[in-house]
Amino acid sequence: MIQITLPDGRIQEVPKGTTPLDIARSISEGLARQVLAAKVNGKVQDAHQGLTENATLHLLTWDNADGKSTFWHSSAHLMAEALEALYPGVKFWVGPPVENGFYYDVDTQGQSISQDDFAKIEQKMLELARQKNEYVRIPKSKAEALAYFQEKGDEYKLDLLENLEDGSITFYQQGNFTDLCRGPHIPNTGFIKAAKIMNVAGAYFKGDQNNKMLTRIYGVTFPKQKELDEYLALLEEAKRRDHRKLGQELDIFTFSEKVGKGLPLWLPKGAMLRERLENFLKKAQLKAGYQPVVTPHIGSKQLYITSGHWEKYGKDSFQPIHTPEEDEEFLLKPMNCPHHCEIYKSRPRSYRDLPLRLAEFGTVYRYEQSGELHGLTRVRGFTQDDAHIFCRQDQVEDEFKKVIDLVLYVFKSLGFEDYLAQVSLRSLEDRSKYIGDDAAWEQAEAAIQRAADEKGLKTVVEYGEAAFYGPKLDFMVKDALGRKWQLGTIQVDYQLPNRFELEYVGSDNQKHRPVMIHRAPFGSMERFIAILIENTAGNFPLWLSPDQMAILPISEKYAEYANEVFLQLQEEDIRGYVDHRDEKIGRKIRDAEVNKIPLMLIVGEKESEEGKVSVRRKGEGDLGSMPISDFIQFAKSEIFKNIPSYK
Ligand SMILES: [Zn+2]
Ligand SMILES: [Zn+2]
Repeated sequence: MIQITLPDGRIQEVPKGTTPLDIARSISEGLARQVLAAKVNGKVQDAHQGLTENATLHLLTWDNADGKSTFWHSSAHLMAEALEALYPGVKFWVGPPVENGFYYDVDTQGQSISQDDFAKIEQKMLELARQKNEYVRIPKSKAEALAYFQEKGDEYKLDLLENLEDGSITFYQQGNFTDLCRGPHIPNTGFIKAAKIMNVAGAYFKGDQNNKMLTRIYGVTFPKQKELDEYLALLEEAKRRDHRKLGQELDIFTFSEKVGKGLPLWLPKGAMLRERLENFLKKAQLKAGYQPVVTPHIGSKQLYITSGHWEKYGKDSFQPIHTPEEDEEFLLKPMNCPHHCEIYKSRPRSYRDLPLRLAEFGTVYRYEQSGELHGLTRVRGFTQDDAHIFCRQDQVEDEFKKVIDLVLYVFKSLGFEDYLAQVSLRSLEDRSKYIGDDAAWEQAEAAIQRAADEKGLKTVVEYGEAAFYGPKLDFMVKDALGRKWQLGTIQVDYQLPNRFELEYVGSDNQKHRPVMIHRAPFGSMERFIAILIENTAGNFPLWLSPDQMAILPISEKYAEYANEVFLQLQEEDIRGYVDHRDEKIGRKIRDAEVNKIPLMLIVGEKESEEGKVSVRRKGEGDLGSMPISDFIQFAKSEIFKNIPSYK
């Protein structure tokens, strides 16, 4: 008999060889029907593979990340089976699960597979799925495995076999398809009820462009047709909201090949949006005790030799800038921290000066390969809402709490209600790669966890994910489409204070080393605005809208009155424009809607005579006519409604 511990702590005593599926059945038939795989002592395995020793057991279903990836990996086998049936002689390299679905790299032996074939492949997959073929695990000796694929003439699997050890090799078979695979897989193909081939692309064998080009076929599958339909609808919506598309349409930013790849150009409306966001955070930061600083865009190479960046990233960065002076070299700054360390060092510091919080919207430059560039989310120049807090070790927890408050304030004000905080700590096993004093690490790790608990954050703890120089806390937000993004980060650093030999004089009159905390609630302005565009579909909250209102005169006759209204609103800091085009009012309203202008003020004969404006609000329609002073009051209350002040 062996003891199996379930997630709720209950222990089942069962005979050796009992499978996770047996245990699921003993709980309920309904559960057993949903079990895709099992996590046994932290390792995922087949649900019908027998248990051999005392273990903890998690039954994995579709609702679980490991369950999903097992489902999708198994679907790659199913797709391969369908391809083999439709395209005799095709050969397969590898077929892993990915974030949304799976792919398989295929040598089609010259047969073409294109978009036109997708439906055929999907149908074949579903036909095979309905056979409910079991994924059978078959251990093989290396000799048997080699013989099998030699016979088949499959150089790809033979290549894979080369690196596998005898005794660890398994085949999996479902229906007529046999693959070399370590598993695990779902119990049978019947779980797969909906399939969609998403894309084909070229992919070099082993990612090496000297090798043969294979065909990478991407697919996604679901246990219900309804879930596939929802997924496809979501993709459509995501495409509609793509910040690269909306950003152009709404005149937020553009790129120019001539300026350079990955270097965004902010258009007037985008610049306005950025400025509003910056001012919003600057205001809160002042209240939170930050002091603004400004540092240059370049720094001497020596600065980055001291910080360690040159040694670590120098080769893969923008290369040094030379001056007419011999041996004088500068780097575009890849981060603001070294500059801030030198500000700290610009005068002697005492324990009474700490914490010292230096904040800067600092633009940094990092070389990214052109294939990696993506809209505003992966660029070569971006502005961080950066700050560095220099504090004593005993202040770390308090400072962490304050930063969490600030981050949550930012998220709340911008409508990101659904977030998760990831606490990244040292690996439990190997601690040799982490620099800094062990006791300080332990204190900081405990302090972060306490701070996160006290602030009621929903957290996951990841061991081994800390940077080598300190533990950190990252915020992941979910957007309106349920996609996860990493935003703000808070990071403890024991390394830079050492490298820069930062000091303060303690109450004991002795010299001590401060701790440094890096933090950025937005992350970067570029990335944050990209996410904001996609999250709001371009319908920014009123206070952030580049144009908050458009004044639409019914005809040329009221142009002068429209200008008067415009000036009055401008005086009150309510921003927008007058649409002076010679167009019908219906057209002007439609265009303002398309441009996502929140408030429209229509002025004609009646309005100009009575000193009024007729107000329309996007998404709400007609709000009636009101005196200009009433509109100003209304607009201001609406603008400020959504930006609570930071306390
Ligand atoms: Zn497999
Ligand atoms: Zn930093």
